Amino acid sequence: MSGPPLELPMVAPAPVAEESDLKLSADARRYRVDGMDCAACARSAQKAVAALPGVQVAEVSFGTASLRLVGSVDDGAVTAAVGRAGFAARPIGTFRAGAGRAFWRSDARATSTSASVALLVAAAVVHLAGASDAVTMLVYLSSMGVGGWPIARAALSALRHRSLDMNVLMALAAAGAVGIGAYAEGAWVLVLFAVGTTLETFALDRGRRSMERLMELAPARVGVLVDGREQTVGVEDVGVGTEFLVRPGERIALDGLILHGESTVDQAAITGESIPADKRPGDAVFAGTLNVHGGMTVRATRVAGQSTLSKVADLVEQAQASRAPSERFIDLFARIYTPLVFLAAVLMTVVGVLAGGELDTWFYRSLALLIVACPCSLVISVPVAVVSAVGGAARRGILVKGGQALEDLARVRAVAVDKTGTLTSGAPVLTQILVEDSRLDETEALAVMASVEARSEHPLAAALVAAAHSRGLRLQDPEEFVASPGRGVEATIAGRRLWAGGPRVLTDRTASVPAGLSVLEQGGKTVVALGEKDRVLALFGLEDTPRPEAAAAVVALRDVGVERITMLTGDAEPVARAIAGRTGIVDWRSGLLPEGKLQAVEEMQRRHGPVAMVGDGVNDAPALAAARIGVAMGAVGSDVALQSADVALMGDRLDRLAIAISLSRRTVGIMRFNVVASLLVKGVCVALAPFGLMTLVIAIAADMGMSLLVTLNALRLLQTSAGARAMD
Ligand code: ADP
Ligand code: MG
Repeated sequence: MSGPPLELPMVAPAPVAEESDLKLSADARRYRVDGMDCAACARSAQKAVAALPGVQVAEVSFGTASLRLVGSVDDGAVTAAVGRAGFAARPIGTFRAGAGRAFWRSDARATSTSASVALLVAAAVVHLAGASDAVTMLVYLSSMGVGGWPIARAALSALRHRSLDMNVLMALAAAGAVGIGAYAEGAWVLVLFAVGTTLETFALDRGRRSMERLMELAPARVGVLVDGREQTVGVEDVGVGTEFLVRPGERIALDGLILHGESTVDQAAITGESIPADKRPGDAVFAGTLNVHGGMTVRATRVAGQSTLSKVADLVEQAQASRAPSERFIDLFARIYTPLVFLAAVLMTVVGVLAGGELDTWFYRSLALLIVACPCSLVISVPVAVVSAVGGAARRGILVKGGQALEDLARVRAVAVDKTGTLTSGAPVLTQILVEDSRLDETEALAVMASVEARSEHPLAAALVAAAHSRGLRLQDPEEFVASPGRGVEATIAGRRLWAGGPRVLTDRTASVPAGLSVLEQGGKTVVALGEKDRVLALFGLEDTPRPEAAAAVVALRDVGVERITMLTGDAEPVARAIAGRTGIVDWRSGLLPEGKLQAVEEMQRRHGPVAMVGDGVNDAPALAAARIGVAMGAVGSDVALQSADVALMGDRLDRLAIAISLSRRTVGIMRFNVVASLLVKGVCVALAPFGLMTLVIAIAADMGMSLLVTLNALRLLQTSAGARAMD
């Protein structure tokens, strides 16, 4: 196994990775779709685009107000098709395009809504002033016309695609009201509907655009070094390998490695971590993060469009657009509910009149039922919660991959944690060398060992190499390097076939295990042996300390209701015991190979339901994939970890997991409340309609009120809650 450090090994890539890769493929384009106010609208828009020749995939997400498109079709045709469906589309090439534009300036619908409100008020005033019925009617009608034309247009388009969406229902109700001379009520219906949906869009935009706003953090221009002289250029024109300058107090424009200069960098934009990180030459810096004090020269490692920030933003948008499992049920319900109530409305008039009732009375009651037939607040209950929760989590440096992950996370009662790099800092330090072969001294043994480990990505290997470097030792280039995950490595150095590995390898290779092993192990040290054939040349004792927040993170997990926390490690029992003791963990399994970790996770899952497995990626890929929720720590440096994990903790902070779990529980709670409240209100309205107790104005006010309520309720998830750091 080789590859850059910190990357997950390419073992069994999770399906998410493939799906995301597909979605991130170069020919997938994205458009912002404005003016949608219901999930059914999203379907109408999607059908309209999908019907275009050349379109392979068209997905419209109501939650993120966006369209994702694969196919050969030009922008003009797409925007026209969306326009015919009653909405406005504009391409988003990068996240920067169109961001920051206030919605009321870009949305024509808001303007017509305001005008219709003014006209409605005018109509009421005119009416009260005692103007003639004809004049009053005219003003009401003009209010309806102004507020209602976008609704009517969208309704026509929906009808063309045979969908009975809320625009159709409202347009029919208003038209019916005019038909029986109830102008004022017809106007109220359309205007309230327009106001409600506009407000809702306004509220939702906060969640939808949270990532766009993040993207604006990365400067558009950057000072690059050309022949030692600084020159300011647009970030799009900067290639990999270009050197650029970062001044104190400036945001970093591109991902890169520091060449000169030391500084501290506030990486909150990506990791949600408020304490600035110390950076020195050789460290990675990320676009959009804030350089606090020092000046630096940085070599770009990625072009602007590939930066970690834009990848994160893209993944967040995809997650926001994803459908939560409970949403499928609601959509199914809505698909049955709406036609059913529509039918009931028609039947009510027919039956009412046949039973000797008055046509106008029963027709009016049916109109009220039409409005009640709109599942407005119900269908947005779940997606608005997902949008807000995913956006709110991202602000705290937690990338949750969508509604499914949120719902799974909310059910987690058991967590498995990897030891090295997750509970511990992952930066072990060499503390002791026991030479077993009299022909070697400590320094020689270390030089050979570090050469054997030079190509390994394991933290233990890194520690040995670092120790050799710090003693000024020269390493030899290993040949025929082979790594076996969870065991150790083999390499040929100067013609000698050598191996390095833990106790497992040691007992496999030699019959007489040196006494030094248990001496080191009893001291809580991780032991790595260097050997040739069946001879042990030296033993190395390394110490890895728990992360400062590990114990608090374990307590926090218990506090959010995680009953079982199990540490899984490939390390030896005494070391496992020592680390468990220092982090407050009571369950641990030691001496596990990667397959052993996978089995342990599966076993936990059988006993305790969905398990969240936290790992740093090295050697843990199979277990992370097997767990219902694979949680990657310190994902900021690793694209593979970002892509394949279900939850990625951007920073190196284990304590964020408890925050993620409590956020997901709150999210599911809010979803439930929203769904139940919507159903209750609908139920009451349906029950009251046949008795004439439901006026059009009450019906529409209940509808819009509930829609706004569920939206605002969900938006609370965007706020950084107690326990999490206040970012704004
Ligand atoms: P953990 O569960 O603590 O993250 P790993 O599964 O990564 O541990 O590794 C388990 C054990 O395998 C280590 O404690 C070590 O003994 C051995 N090992 C793995 N890789 C190497 C390596 N490159 N060099 C030496 N020993 C290794
Ligand atoms: Mg590990």
